[in-house]
Amino acid sequence: MTHSTALDLPRFSTIKIDQIEGAIRALLDENRTRLDALLNAGANTWEDLVVPLEEMQHKLSRTWSPIGHMNGVVNSDELRSAYNACLPLLTAWHTDLAQNERLYRAYESILQREGSKLSAGQRKLLENALRDFRLAGVALPAASKDRFKALMEQLATLQSKFDENVLDATNAWSKHIANEAELSGVPAPIIERARAAAESRQMEGWFFTLDAPNYQAIMMHADSEALRREFYTAWVTRASDQGLQPERWDNSQLMSQILALRSELAALVGFRSYAEFSLATKMASSVDEVREFLEQLAAKARPVAQREFDELEHFAKRSLNAWDVSYFAERMKRDRFDLSEEELRPYFPLDRVLAGMFQVAERLYGVRIALREGVDVYHSDACFYDILNPDGSQRGGFFVDLYSREKKRGGAWMDECVGRKRLGDSAALPVAYLVCNFMPPSGKQPSLLTHSEVVTMFHEFGHGLHHMLTRVDYPSIAGINGVAWDAVELPSQFMENFAWRPEVLPLISGHVATGAPLPEQELQRLLGTRTFQAGMQTVRQLEFALFDFRVHSEGPQDSTAIMGILEDVRSRVAVISPPAFNRFAHSFQHIFSGGYAAGYYSYKWAEVLAADAFSAFEEEGIFNDKVSRRFLNSILEQGGSRDAMEAFVEFRGRKPQIEPLLKQLGLAA
Ligand SMILES: [Zn+2]
Repeated sequence: MTHSTALDLPRFSTIKIDQIEGAIRALLDENRTRLDALLNAGANTWEDLVVPLEEMQHKLSRTWSPIGHMNGVVNSDELRSAYNACLPLLTAWHTDLAQNERLYRAYESILQREGSKLSAGQRKLLENALRDFRLAGVALPAASKDRFKALMEQLATLQSKFDENVLDATNAWSKHIANEAELSGVPAPIIERARAAAESRQMEGWFFTLDAPNYQAIMMHADSEALRREFYTAWVTRASDQGLQPERWDNSQLMSQILALRSELAALVGFRSYAEFSLATKMASSVDEVREFLEQLAAKARPVAQREFDELEHFAKRSLNAWDVSYFAERMKRDRFDLSEEELRPYFPLDRVLAGMFQVAERLYGVRIALREGVDVYHSDACFYDILNPDGSQRGGFFVDLYSREKKRGGAWMDECVGRKRLGDSAALPVAYLVCNFMPPSGKQPSLLTHSEVVTMFHEFGHGLHHMLTRVDYPSIAGINGVAWDAVELPSQFMENFAWRPEVLPLISGHVATGAPLPEQELQRLLGTRTFQAGMQTVRQLEFALFDFRVHSEGPQDSTAIMGILEDVRSRVAVISPPAFNRFAHSFQHIFSGGYAAGYYSYKWAEVLAADAFSAFEEEGIFNDKVSRRFLNSILEQGGSRDAMEAFVEFRGRKPQIEPLLKQLGLAA
């Protein structure tokens, strides 16, 4: 019975930072010994070799996960150095494994001998593994293998340094304001928070750090152009030659080194570029296909974006600088829809949003979500929820950690805490982390979200559901594991659509003081804002995606050439010319230190999939059981156990089409 499977949650409070490195070393040694013993004993069947390997990987992942998570959300100098000490060890283990020729041969023979008896999922696992072996250069001569390994280790270290520079440069900046007049236009909760920050530092006035809520609020609302320019300058020069302490935090050299190493790595295993290497594991089939896809979207979006920008300058009655765009866009939006993102915050108290969002998942997928008290967490901001099957049995669970704070990485993400497995007698249910950086509660005021933050919450929850609702038993293809990179954002972007639906908004909104739902008029206005400046937003995403794809397909570059590519991309797709000091690329963590290298396009790619998938719900009713169960069965539960295109076609009855996205964004002709 599934009832007997309890969640095996990390015991955060027992993690001793000074024992992390030792524990990881011991576990890796144990894995190595076990693997050697298996191979020496000639293990070459699914049961004797693949299952123990899956166990090992599962254990390592669940041991490392809370450490990696805490490094991201409750960072400290000690934790950071323990974390950094482990990175090369883990990379070495994964590279050793991926380059283990005996293991490769054994997997190959298992597929050949047992292939016909295995399930489609099991075969997919072996095929993925064999592909990854080849990508890791398993057939390379010894010297090249060593070089490959060295490159992987160097990359891990450089990418981590890139991240640290961004975090440190961000944390080092602050702005103290003594005169309240300078804060004209800034929303009260942001001012209140800055006031509290000043008080906690025994200062008069208002103290601003450079976190995302502060930055966005200033850019959108501060009447003072000087203040906007100052924040903008700080934000877009982080970790660059134009920013604070460039001698310590300038990422220029790192960017160019990272690209050079990636390029060398790709060449070693027979690809013409890192972009080509990256596509080997994706749904998109070639470099040309991706560039054409992006350029096709740009051709549709740019004329619309240009028209929107002209309208904005006309509205502002002057030509606009980069630091003016959000501010006037917000005013124009308010003028047009009589609606401000900030004014809607009281309608979206975090608890209400979560409760409504959980109801949506419950109605769609027949699960139940319940808060569990008394769980061991690493910070008082974090809490835990169970996901239960209709019969009350456990399906999975997740931690949420949603407030912005010091020592916490910015942005929002979902990560695996425990992966699902059922391997013989040993089973584990999936557990996720959902992390955001919303404005924390202040005094008696709970955390209040803007609607775009609500959308972010739905997005991460969509990833979480993909991880937690999986029915796949093998860790390396369960949940988000083994899913083609450019399809991995399908469940998340799909989920965003619900945050815009008139059937859902009453479930997720309720005025913080009165509980009143979002009034009909406000609701209609909010819906009207969805396509507002969608052209400008689209070309911005395309700018990032094309920049990413080009730096990874055009060979190694020095930092000047990298900036040159960015400028060239902008001249082709952008409608806003940023100032010469803009160093956006220097803090572009997605592609330089995150997992999106030559993969940023996948956001748009997956948007096409998501909009097309959601259009099936629009056609048949968004809470239509048949459609939602088909989505659950064909996509969410399948994880990486089957080809992404095949799963999509099974759900939708045909291949994906671009038109639903163009229609959703108001870009259709
Ligand atoms: Zn995502």
